[in-house]
Amino acid sequence: MSYSPNQQVDVIIIGGGPAGMSAALVLGRARRHVLVLDEALPRHRVTRESHGFLTRDGVSPSELRQVARQQIAAYPTVRFVQETVVEAEGIDGKFEVKTQNGQVYHARKLLFAVGMKDLPMELEGLEAVYGKSAYVCPYCDGWEMQNRQIAVIARSAFALHLTRTVSGWTDDLMVFTHGEQLPDEQKQQLESRGIPVFETPIQRIESENGETRAIVLEDGRVIERTAIFFAPQLEPGSTLPSVLGCETMDSGAMVVDESGRSSIAGIFGAGDGASQKYQVAAAVAAGSMAGAGINTELLESDWEHRAASLS
Ligand SMILES: Cc1cc2nc3c(=O)[nH]c(=O)nc-3n(C[C@H](O)[C@H](O)[C@H](O)COP(=O)(O)OP(=O)(O)OC[C@H]3O[C@@H](n4cnc5c(N)ncnc54)[C@H](O)[C@@H]3O)c2cc1C
Repeated sequence: MSYSPNQQVDVIIIGGGPAGMSAALVLGRARRHVLVLDEALPRHRVTRESHGFLTRDGVSPSELRQVARQQIAAYPTVRFVQETVVEAEGIDGKFEVKTQNGQVYHARKLLFAVGMKDLPMELEGLEAVYGKSAYVCPYCDGWEMQNRQIAVIARSAFALHLTRTVSGWTDDLMVFTHGEQLPDEQKQQLESRGIPVFETPIQRIESENGETRAIVLEDGRVIERTAIFFAPQLEPGSTLPSVLGCETMDSGAMVVDESGRSSIAGIFGAGDGASQKYQVAAAVAAGSMAGAGINTELLESDWEHRAASLS
């Protein structure tokens, strides 16, 4: 089914990653007219395999996307367009969004499923291993990296938390704070468990075909390591929710209720960009809940309209 840009749809979903596609599926099955505007840069695109999502453990992110798109294609009222949304305005029942290509679309409800994105990586060599032997989430990739010589790179108090978590997958751990002093108590906790702490700044990460080989420190030491877990710097996939006045967390992610409702009527959020849990299963669940939440509000409004139109 095709829409002209001026035709109002029920819902515009901004972002077509796992959260946005899950909401699109629920809304398509509810016979809603849905337009998904997606710039198609899901956060896990750097990784070879996605893990931990039941029935899809170990598939590539592109296969996950392809299967989802194939299944959603069965619902003809859902349309996907590859576009970046740059502006949004309006009130509940009447929103307008503009894309980078100058197209304007209208909808009764908006769902932001824009994810979080990594800020540019400041460590030389990290990008080359990201998604291949350097990861951010042990639950996603710890199994594949188990028993390796793991470097935990984290500059804040998060170092202790991340190291304790990664210790479930290997005994061979070293912590690199890249020039930051860890509080004594934390350093003592790590060292008393046989985990060395390096506070010297890192000069670069050495690797071969995406496989980590060593951490090179600014003082010249070369520390052999074969995998990395690190704490990335993130920002929301889009600043539009906060521009529209939606309440946000410290991370910039939207504050939403269990049905994805934001603090602004008619605007919903789902997935990484409205959460503190960054996993496909959580994003899919949130998208599904938001889809149902949006449909509930549309049903309520249509119910009232039906009575009014007969009186
Ligand atoms: C290296 C790595 C490995 C990972 N491995 C796993 C794993 O194995 N298992 C797991 O469960 N999770 C994994 N994750 C986490 C997983 O990627 C996220 O939890 C998941 O992608 C979140 O889905 P989402 O739909 O919320 O956001 P995303 O998947 O990030 O999708 C957001 C979409 O919105 C689009 N978008 C943003 N702004 C706009 C705009 N203004 N206009 C139009 N479109 C826009 C983006 O381009 C993107 O397509 C991994 C993450 C990383 C970084």
